[in-house]
Amino acid sequence: MHSHDLSAILAASSARHSHLCPRQVLGARIGLAGGLALGMDLPRTDKRLLVFVESDGCFADGVEVATGCTMGHRTLRLEDYGKIAAVFVDVTSERAVRVAPRLDVRERAYAYAPGERRHYFAQLQAYQVMPDDKLLAIQPVALATPVAAIVSRPILRTNCDRCGEEIINEREVITGGQTLCRSCGGPGYYRPLAESQTHSFALPESREVVYG
Ligand SMILES: [Zn+2]
Ligand SMILES: [Zn+2]
Repeated sequence: MHSHDLSAILAASSARHSHLCPRQVLGARIGLAGGLALGMDLPRTDKRLLVFVESDGCFADGVEVATGCTMGHRTLRLEDYGKIAAVFVDVTSERAVRVAPRLDVRERAYAYAPGERRHYFAQLQAYQVMPDDKLLAIQPVALATPVAAIVSRPILRTNCDRCGEEIINEREVITGGQTLCRSCGGPGYYRPLAESQTHSFALPESREVVYG
């Protein structure tokens, strides 16, 4: 890792926020280490690197800027485990590594931030300079789902037999001979409210809206 890369990444990441914080630094360091472990140049402009971040928030921006992988390019996915960690997959070989901070990084940080006793600032400073092997744990892993199934193919689409909505990327579930979306096939991440529950919920009145 070149330090000028890191400072450019941190500048781009913090420009999205009102601050630079230890989690953005960890995101950037984890992103760079993931690319290095797979022998891939960063940032990517192709789809060869697939990244799973294990939490959203500032951390994810650090990873995104370092790797060039984004949700819009379908090269960044959220597996919300509430952890500062990410899995990096070379989609051509399916080689994958998980990168996370070592368990003792908070305590170690003080040694890399001389004179700084405030833990937030010690971490902010230290995480930028700690060597990879002191900062990060890197573990080879195998995905539970094949990359081909995760990425799917852009031409594939079907309709849910219950709600009628279109489903892309082979995300349908087949239950009792029916093709269902994940909401109808359940358990979904939301449920529609019954009419008796919607009294406090005033939908905006329909009106003509002209954009642009
Ligand atoms: Zn932050
Ligand atoms: Zn449905």
